Amino acid sequence: MTDAGGPTDGTGPTDASDIQFDVVPDTDQSFENALAKARNGIRLTVADGIELITTGTDADGIDPRRKELVLEAADRRRADVVGDEVTFVANVNNNVTTACNTGCLFCNFKDTAHQFETDHADDHAGFTKTPEESRAVVRDAVERGVYEVTSVSGLHPAFGLDDDHREALDAGNPEHNYKPPERYTTDPHTYVEQIEAMSVDGVHVHSMTPEEAHHAQRGVSRDYRDVYRRLKDAGLDTIPGTAAEILVDEVRDVICPGKIDTGQWVAAMEAAADAGLPMTATIMYGHVENAAHRVEHLKVVRDLQDRTGNITEFVPLSFIHQQTPLYDRGVVTGGASDAEDELMIAVSRLFLDNVEHVQSSWVKFGNAKGLKLLNCGADDFMGTILSEEITKRAGGQHGEFRSVADYADMLSAIGRTPVERSTDYTERRVLDADAESDALGPRLGPQADGTPLVPERGSDVAVGPAGADD
Ligand code: SF4
Repeated sequence: MTDAGGPTDGTGPTDASDIQFDVVPDTDQSFENALAKARNGIRLTVADGIELITTGTDADGIDPRRKELVLEAADRRRADVVGDEVTFVANVNNNVTTACNTGCLFCNFKDTAHQFETDHADDHAGFTKTPEESRAVVRDAVERGVYEVTSVSGLHPAFGLDDDHREALDAGNPEHNYKPPERYTTDPHTYVEQIEAMSVDGVHVHSMTPEEAHHAQRGVSRDYRDVYRRLKDAGLDTIPGTAAEILVDEVRDVICPGKIDTGQWVAAMEAAADAGLPMTATIMYGHVENAAHRVEHLKVVRDLQDRTGNITEFVPLSFIHQQTPLYDRGVVTGGASDAEDELMIAVSRLFLDNVEHVQSSWVKFGNAKGLKLLNCGADDFMGTILSEEITKRAGGQHGEFRSVADYADMLSAIGRTPVERSTDYTERRVLDADAESDALGPRLGPQADGTPLVPERGSDVAVGPAGADD
């Protein structure tokens, strides 16, 4: 495992038999004891979490009866902590570039950065946006009424934090993973310029994962706190805690050896908290990791939250396996089962006793399962996402957009209260689920007036090109 992100040669396991882990789901705890602790609100140990997420290590496979007991406990905890409201945010994805050399084996979002160079003759499906293009996408979405722009991008080699950073980077040093912008057909400019461009009319800018923060300080002695302060001054509001995958290095060594390690990810998140930037946290599961890795990951997040109190929500992301190197090489044959997804949400709710909100992602799970997971411990149903490219490119089938009217319909149908929220949950608006659909639009964005984001209810609409990290 490298302790710093950078380009890789794409090597890695060629099948599942290449992978041996030290961390395994083996405990001295019993399922019954762990469940009793969860029901009584006693802080869970890793062993407790493993017993719950496996429905007991005393038998192979998932026991359906025990699974229901775990889901019930999580649903009850959800009701105690946040009640019956289900939140969503009116947001747009604006991802700057798909150019990336990092070579994560779970990713089909990126395009090898060389394809973007001026001397590359063949066409490719990737894109890079200038700051002006980013601003145009965001301005259109803000005029439609969005509250938030989410922006997560590939690690384009020409990216730097600012002009000073780009000048300090040495294109002849492979550890810098840098090539000057004139080598590329489109210059992505700097992170600061992109953030400034996306800051339209006070829209909330949710961007700069720990991995991107690392890319914004590679090759120079600038710490993460300075990076995040500079970006905050440019208009950054909150941080997506993606690029987390599984926060256990023996798993990262397999699926993303070019990425920062667990310690660096945590250091970047702590620095974001020090800079006064709220953040989310994620897990991407259902690939090569085992149940013990999932719970160890939850422990890393819970410890981070104990120190910072800065995590607004936890987002379990089920691995979409199609069209990824892990699947193409036969290292994985599929993703998580429905039961594993349910237990991941439930144990996240029970284990993370210091994180208020747990998200069910309709992009990853689809509507039916996404709604089911709201009864397994989740209380947030993601965002409208005017444009979404990551999941589509990785074989996801769940569309690109949910209107406010869709949210009202779906959430009231399962007996829950639909609530439009701000990114950090400090602003909330309960929807009138009985209102006509053409009168149901967002109201929290800087230009939101209750008009629907798009004219046609339920249509799948993409506003410009988009993409993202993971
Ligand atoms: S997950 Fe992110 S860093 Fe990794 S290859 Fe994909 S775009 Fe690059």
